[in-house]
Amino acid sequence: MKEYRVGLDIDGCVLQTYEPFLKETNKRHGTNFKFSDMTSYGVDKIVGITVEELIDIFASIDDRDSPLCDPNCPKVIDNLRSEGYIIELVTAHIPHKTMLFDPLLEALDNYKINYDLITFVDNRSNTVKGQMASLFDYMLDDAPHHIMEMGVYTKAILYDAPYNVNVDIPSVWARVPNWTRLEQLLLDDVK
Ligand SMILES: [Mg+2]
Repeated sequence: MKEYRVGLDIDGCVLQTYEPFLKETNKRHGTNFKFSDMTSYGVDKIVGITVEELIDIFASIDDRDSPLCDPNCPKVIDNLRSEGYIIELVTAHIPHKTMLFDPLLEALDNYKINYDLITFVDNRSNTVKGQMASLFDYMLDDAPHHIMEMGVYTKAILYDAPYNVNVDIPSVWARVPNWTRLEQLLLDDVK
């Protein structure tokens, strides 16, 4: 059986980190922003905060408060692994200020995300994920700028979000609205 390497972004694809982010932002500023309001990837501008505060809020949230983007995600990962796919998480996740990555690993564990490998990349670089793309047969991400770079080297799959639905990305291989569709797409592609 040929093994296919699948690179998965965490934030906005596996864990819905925008939920605790918006909760904290709304608490700090007395606002009522919802995920559906995030119609541009520059969410700092949408909610009216600086990039520094955005980073500060992301670094303050507890990953265990992030729900799954799709409740089917753990099952789909298990199914794909049983079909010979290697599942690697690639993330520029901002570590928690005091607890580093432990809450994230615990959240993945709590949700029974059975990945093969996790790689942390520098969150100050916008290009490092794109540079890694040639290592993978497929990569999933929700950020338009990452998909744009990845698509040159691999089959780049965009996970639907309000901030990417209206963005035209020539190098995108496919778009998926949920994990069930992602599973079908990958299994059908190698038939
Ligand atoms: Mg993301």
